[in-house]
Amino acid sequence: MSDLELVAQSAGAVCSACSVPAVVQWQRRTTDGTVPVFGCGRHAVSIDLAARVHAASCPAPDEALLPACGCTPEPVPETDLMALAQAPVFTWPT
Ligand SMILES: [Zn+2]
Ligand SMILES: [Zn+2]
Repeated sequence: MSDLELVAQSAGAVCSACSVPAVVQWQRRTTDGTVPVFGCGRHAVSIDLAARVHAASCPAPDEALLPACGCTPEPVPETDLMALAQAPVFTWPT
């Protein structure tokens, strides 16, 4: 078991597709902001996709589409993820 899996288990996060302990998290856009989505080792999107905010209609983690996710995610820099997770509304830089 990797350290990454231990961290996910201690946080209680489970895969959105199969409910085993998650190893990857990404954000999905909702009308209220964003919500976290979790994937296990089998149902993880690529690292590049996990760093972005996905469309509300994004089907990930859909096993038929992985490691792609089925939407065109917003190109959010990884360094903005923490602020994004805490802010109710994300404003695009101009
Ligand atoms: Zn899974
Ligand atoms: Zn997506």
